[in-house]
Amino acid sequence: MYLVLDIGGTNCRIGFFNDLNAKKPSKVEYIKLQHDFDKDWQAILDTLQHIKGINGAVMAIAGALDQDRTKLINSPHLPVFEGIDIKNRLSDDLSCKVEVFNDTYLAALGESTVARYTDSFWYLNWGSGIGGSLVKGKRTKRKIYAAEPGHMVLCPRAEACECGQKGCWDAMAGGKSLQRRYGKSPSELILKQWKEIVPFMINGLINISVVYPTELIIMGGGIALNQPEIIDLIAHKLQDSMKILPAPRLEIAKLGDLAAIYGGFAFMREEYN
Ligand SMILES: [Zn+2]
Repeated sequence: MYLVLDIGGTNCRIGFFNDLNAKKPSKVEYIKLQHDFDKDWQAILDTLQHIKGINGAVMAIAGALDQDRTKLINSPHLPVFEGIDIKNRLSDDLSCKVEVFNDTYLAALGESTVARYTDSFWYLNWGSGIGGSLVKGKRTKRKIYAAEPGHMVLCPRAEACECGQKGCWDAMAGGKSLQRRYGKSPSELILKQWKEIVPFMINGLINISVVYPTELIIMGGGIALNQPEIIDLIAHKLQDSMKILPAPRLEIAKLGDLAAIYGGFAFMREEYN
């Protein structure tokens, strides 16, 4: 059995793959996070206690990792996981090899395995927070760069971001920030409110596009997946707003909210086969 744990700002998803030739997970379990490290870790172990013979596991986690990819050094959406050696702890608890990656890195890897598009693209996650990775190069020689586009500063004098900076893209348009500002879940926002948020999305998309221009940006994460009409609106307005270069095309992630799960499995298939 091979496992991929995807720990995001709101929940942990665990994909179970029977063997390295599996085409898809045999099941996916969802655990709602309580943002208490001990309780969340125990809930993960409880979910896995009946699984016998774990050959390998990959953890996808939201935030910036240290150089050895053993722990989070800054995670605005998972602060209780910061500084803990999650790689070796999980490896000890499951008695198997464990690798840890930034979640958008693995989501980008997952999308790159199913995308018919063969050139470089950005993968942008718009959910509880904003994150992303750059997938660079032609299909067979791709390299993925985990970035932190959600923490580019869009409005220097605006509200503080949970990362410690002020006016980050995440603080202006990430799901948790929207929840705080409007007092309701992003799925309950009305068009008038989305029209206030869209300019921040356009500015952020222009900024990543002028730093590393690509023809395509693949959008994943809860907000992008659940509000495709808002993504259409952003794509339309981006065409008019971007002047210096042609605007990129926006596409919704084909693997939906399982992109990082498939990416983690793609890593193990490549590494362990
Ligand atoms: Zn920030």
